[in-house]
Amino acid sequence: MHAAHSLAVITGAGISSESGVPTFRGPGGLWKNHRAQDLATPEAFARNPQLVHDWYCWRREICAKARPNPAHEAVARLEKDYKEFLLITQNVDGLHRRAGNHKLIEIHGNIFKSYCTACQHHLDQNASPAIALPLDCSQCGGRMRPDIVWFGEGYNAAQVEMAFTFLKSADLVIVIGTSGMVPMPVYLAQHAAEAGARILDINPDFSAVTKIADLHLIGPAGLIMPKLLA
Ligand code: NAD
Ligand code: ZN
Repeated sequence: MHAAHSLAVITGAGISSESGVPTFRGPGGLWKNHRAQDLATPEAFARNPQLVHDWYCWRREICAKARPNPAHEAVARLEKDYKEFLLITQNVDGLHRRAGNHKLIEIHGNIFKSYCTACQHHLDQNASPAIALPLDCSQCGGRMRPDIVWFGEGYNAAQVEMAFTFLKSADLVIVIGTSGMVPMPVYLAQHAAEAGARILDINPDFSAVTKIADLHLIGPAGLIMPKLLA
């Protein structure tokens, strides 16, 4: 850890579970008998925008009430400790920003941001998360949608390129709370490993990341991360 100069951290839903934000596949992942994987899609939004909108309002409320946990705080401290640092998160809950991270890429977007599908008007409610997500655009009356990369949608190419470029020269990559069911974190870690980085996996379970990790620390991130820093 101390020998590393360039550190990347990749996080998934698991890091926020101790803050009370449910993962999609763990307990609490079901909402009114719908699976998250069936709601976070462009098809679901086209079919029933109100249903998807209601689900996002419910999730936004959970994220707004949640507080960063000791694992988020540890990741924020790592950004201060390492000159060369990048956090790549799949999480949309905004908790890393609230913990104090600035050098971060939210590759799946942010639940407090939305945009109009007709005129592209953007709305950022990150600073006032308690305000409800509007379904109609204030500018043109078109339909607003969360600024989130849904299942079946593409990533922002510039963001992904930035992540791959950083990982090429990283010495150490810490992957926290990601199953690899969405494969991008595994590709990112693999790319870094091939370029010479050590991979540290932190997860109470085995995952697709474990297979390519040099070390797997088994347990909840909120317990392990502060110990790792100490
Ligand atoms: P995921 O695929 O990233 O899986 C969650 C992983 O976290 C699992 O491997 C699980 O073993 C692990 N985990 C559970 N508790 C943990 C803990 N205390 N410490 C460390 N690891 C722990 O996530 P998913 O729930 O299958 O969701 C897939 C995608 O959906 C994510 O990539 C994300 O974009 C989105 N999502 C985001 C949030 C959020 O923003 N908080 C929540 C749910 C889903
Ligand atoms: Zn509009």
